[in-house]
Amino acid sequence: MSYAMYLRKSRAEEASQPLEDTLRLHRKLLTEFAHKNGLTIQAAYEEVVSGESLFARPQMLRLLQDVQAGLYQGVLCMDLDRLGRGGMQDQGVILDTFKNSGTKILTPEHTYDLSDETDEELTELKTFISRREYKIINKRLRRGLHDTITSGGYIPNAPYGYRKAVQNRRPTLEIVEEEAKFVRMMFQLYVQGVGCSAIAQTLNSLGAVPRRTGQFQRTSVRLILRNPVYVGKVVWNRLRYEKTGDLQSGRRVSGRPQEDWLVVDGLHEPIVDRALFEEAGRMMQAHSIPSRRDGSVKNPFAGLIRCQKCARVLVRQAPANKEAYLLCPTPGCTAGAHLELVQQALLGRLRGILQGITLRESPRPGTDLLQSQALLEGVRRECSRCAQQQNRLYELLEQGVYSADTFQQRMQVLNAKQAALQSQEADLSRRLTELRALRIQSSKRQFQEILQVYAGAGAAEQNQLLKSLLYGVCYQKARGSTPEDFSLEIYHRSFYPEL
Ligand SMILES: [Zn+2]
Repeated sequence: MSYAMYLRKSRAEEASQPLEDTLRLHRKLLTEFAHKNGLTIQAAYEEVVSGESLFARPQMLRLLQDVQAGLYQGVLCMDLDRLGRGGMQDQGVILDTFKNSGTKILTPEHTYDLSDETDEELTELKTFISRREYKIINKRLRRGLHDTITSGGYIPNAPYGYRKAVQNRRPTLEIVEEEAKFVRMMFQLYVQGVGCSAIAQTLNSLGAVPRRTGQFQRTSVRLILRNPVYVGKVVWNRLRYEKTGDLQSGRRVSGRPQEDWLVVDGLHEPIVDRALFEEAGRMMQAHSIPSRRDGSVKNPFAGLIRCQKCARVLVRQAPANKEAYLLCPTPGCTAGAHLELVQQALLGRLRGILQGITLRESPRPGTDLLQSQALLEGVRRECSRCAQQQNRLYELLEQGVYSADTFQQRMQVLNAKQAALQSQEADLSRRLTELRALRIQSSKRQFQEILQVYAGAGAAEQNQLLKSLLYGVCYQKARGSTPEDFSLEIYHRSFYPEL
């Protein structure tokens, strides 16, 4: 039997040290620990993604799968928090997986054996505490930020037309007149009916230069026309930031719905007046092409397949008259593939998994099953005790302690007892086999039905079907490889039936 190590940065270390340094240090410490205790490390699971939820941690999923398969006697990690963090449900899955497979958790300070009840309590307590602490810290941080914002302060980078300033010890903005005149021009041109692309060209030809790129584009003009900061407002909660494993940007930005925005009067001066801003807003709404994002799902894999390298969800792209493609949204990351090829490969793999289900017993037996199992074990123990007693009777007879009559009497009693136990054992064994078959059949039938209706379903329905079977898929493809040459790592729900 061997051991594995799981390496992952904790929140407290995130700011202070580069990821690679932390992981290297932890690897060294755990290797020393293993050496000192004579443990053989067979594999290391190194998490470069700092996701909160279980699925955003591909290495943890791999580890759980291997732990479940009983590959390791124990898993080494720096402390319990590395395994935990995330929803209580995730923690439940993690703890149960370790418990059911009898795998120990080893940290330099303590070895946790979850099959031992006292340790399980301790583990649950510790993960719970670390989660609470994290919540409190996070809340405190946000409260400070929130106070500044509700009082009209401005924290992020200054938008075009403004520079950062401080007023009564609060961060705010100050107008940069050379840029502000271009901002006003954008609004005036727009309400006269000039389109965003033409406005961008005009500004570029006048020598206006945006902050982060060389030239104004249609989208940057649009963003300015819609930003309430120009009428003296501060908007909080407009964007959602998510941490990703992307080493270049480290985070992903997406928009939040407008009703989630928190809009307050800023301390700063407006650049355009309210009437002009609102007129531009009205016109933009009237001109806007109905969004293609009408809520209909066109990608059967929406939210389901992630890039193995950066853990971001692959997106579907369908250029006109061309086949749909699946791509990692991180520029220059994993190579994309034809959606159809991925679909074929995935369905092929699912059929294989379906065939394998008969061999695999569900890792979480139901109460009935557990009860029957316990009863059967009890009966078997009783049977072997009975056999021992029979042996003892022969000994006593040989030693002349028992007369032939006494021996006969006692032996008859024992034989009757044994016969009863044997029939009980047979009943229980049959019952157990039935219960196991039932569980396997129901999950197999469900799996089968899903695969059968899949081909005839629409993309949205296919997405639902896949999500009912799969927890997620990790995708990998090398640049320059042939179109079919990609790998899919499938996490299906029969491994994690409670999720
Ligand atoms: Zn990627």
